[in-house]
Amino acid sequence: MLDTNLDATMALERAEIWTLGVDLGGTKVETALVDAAGLIVASHRRPTNATKGADAVVGDILNCVETCLGETSKGASGLGIGVAGQVERQTGVIRFAPNLGWRDVDLGSRLQKELGMHVVVTNDVRAATFGEWQHGAGQGLDDMVCLFIGTGIGGGVVSGGQLLEGCWNSAGELGHMTIVPDGRDCHCPNRGCLEAYAGGWAIAKRAQEAAGANRNDGHRLISLAGGVEQISAATVAQGYDVGDPLARRLVDQTAQYLAAGAVGIVNAFNPCLLVLGGGVIVGLPFLVTLIESTVRARALQAAVEGLRIVTSALGDKAGVVGAAAMARPQRW
Ligand SMILES: [Zn+2]
Repeated sequence: MLDTNLDATMALERAEIWTLGVDLGGTKVETALVDAAGLIVASHRRPTNATKGADAVVGDILNCVETCLGETSKGASGLGIGVAGQVERQTGVIRFAPNLGWRDVDLGSRLQKELGMHVVVTNDVRAATFGEWQHGAGQGLDDMVCLFIGTGIGGGVVSGGQLLEGCWNSAGELGHMTIVPDGRDCHCPNRGCLEAYAGGWAIAKRAQEAAGANRNDGHRLISLAGGVEQISAATVAQGYDVGDPLARRLVDQTAQYLAAGAVGIVNAFNPCLLVLGGGVIVGLPFLVTLIESTVRARALQAAVEGLRIVTSALGDKAGVVGAAAMARPQRW
């Protein structure tokens, strides 16, 4: 009885540990106060003032934190922040964040000084993977991979119960695996990357090229978008929904590129679970089924034996929930 009471008290104390999670991207700062079960208690979102420099962005983060804490009567035990960029593991310095225009910004120390609480800085996709692992689709698993297909493509790998970091903390850049040697230019130094074919920006580019080259084929996409240059990945999804043949062809090709990448991922890491998320999957959810059928047909038998492929459970909240979970005191 005593033990049961003790367990209940400890569970209550654990549940009382609230931490802040921040998802910092080129367009928005999202902040949430998250409890130990991964539930969002309060949240706040505002546009990122990236052009105004790092000081303005830090000010925005502090305002978001204040707003979140102001909605509750409780403080936070720490803050985790996921940033779209390369982060130095030991120091929390942002080495390079192209969407923010940052190089060598000491974000961790600055926030820690301003807030007076423990701060963990990580990559945004790494945070989202941690969120899916701890509180989303991958709960209780030791081997899982997340592939987030948005404007760009990022990923995260949990192997043997560890979130892989790599030698210089850049493990998980799954969007930059080569799927077409000497193929399309990527935003990285390479060519033929998965992202250069199936990232949102690349889907838009392929669609614009196809519609521009043959306006008969492209007339539906052009009229949906208002012009060739305005065609986006969302336009392609719209075109697909109304049965446009060009959109269908582009989506089928996108599925093949993603499946080629997923076969490589599954063969390399042998996960129990492959989680697919991001704006492209939200817009074209049937891609998951198309990818799965190819992966099951083409990956090694042992690699797919125990494999499940699912969509993200936390959606666009994976980043804030994961960043907050990384900042819990038991992880310090
Ligand atoms: Zn690349």
